[in-house]
Amino acid sequence: MPEALRAAIRDVVDFPKPGIIFKDITPILADAKLFRQAISLLCETAGGSVIDKVVGIDARGFIFAAAVADRLGAGFIPIRKKGKLPWKTRQTAYSLEYGDSIVELHEDAIQPGESILLVDDLLATGGTAAAPLKLLDELGANVIGVSVLIELAFLDGRAKLKPHPVHTIITY
Ligand code: AMP
Repeated sequence: MPEALRAAIRDVVDFPKPGIIFKDITPILADAKLFRQAISLLCETAGGSVIDKVVGIDARGFIFAAAVADRLGAGFIPIRKKGKLPWKTRQTAYSLEYGDSIVELHEDAIQPGESILLVDDLLATGGTAAAPLKLLDELGANVIGVSVLIELAFLDGRAKLKPHPVHTIITY
């Protein structure tokens, strides 16, 4: 059934800049059955582990991570681009397929030993997911895994996320 999800993803050529084929997931979000299926499959990647908190990556990751957190009975923690969080933060710099950025999370968002699932919409070069993993490792989190709806496997982003397990639903 991920084939129905795959069929709904819209390729947008040269967005946000020439040479990028942007994977538009908004048709999945707009379809109640497909959105629910996407959340169910992402929840299954937790493999039945008890998850204390689901960490979502700004901004499309929030959409999936918050729903997964609710379904798993876990809390939700946002990783945000620099300057958006109001409290004391930890931050790290990273580069992605089409630019550079700094991300941060609240320093008291995670307690040492808490079981964490990191969720995003898409894994490309891996920089976007590697940055939060660095912060989570520094905070002493027990990262159960990284769960992503779409993987651009030809970019081998998962190599950057070792040794954390990476689970993806749709691979290109
Ligand atoms: P990366 O750091 O290269 O793994 O990039 C992953 C992040 O950038 C994810 O949060 C995606 O939302 C976004 N992204 C990168 N490449 C694409 C793409 N081709 N289509 C849609 N989103 C992308």
